[in-house]
Amino acid sequence: MLRCAVQNYKNFSEKTSSDVSYHTSPKDARLSKVWKFTCTRKYDFNTQAVRVCSAHFALDDFVRDLQAKHTGQERRRHLKPNVVPHLNLQHKMEDVPSARSDRLKNRKMKQKIIGEISDCMKQVAGDTNI
Ligand SMILES: [Zn+2]
Repeated sequence: MLRCAVQNYKNFSEKTSSDVSYHTSPKDARLSKVWKFTCTRKYDFNTQAVRVCSAHFALDDFVRDLQAKHTGQERRRHLKPNVVPHLNLQHKMEDVPSARSDRLKNRKMKQKIIGEISDCMKQVAGDTNI
């Protein structure tokens, strides 16, 4: 059974529809570090051994496989290179916001996380440009 590596995100292959696909992290050590960061697990784990579900990627993050569409295998989606999970991450889901102030707090937290991820991405990009 496949299980999404993002902490507390409850996507299981048995529960989810076939629309959800599961992805392994890139072999690139720097990119997989970003993946690990987005999973926010407290313990260390082998990123090559876990999968992250498609709920954490935007439609634009996937390579559009038109040929697969013709053969009826479109749900085998492939991620574009250098893509990291950035949607539905645990940091953003901790408290379901109810009051307006909570929503504001949540939005700020979101921005912080997005900032951290983009910093991490910049670092990765900078490293590879050497
Ligand atoms: Zn997931």
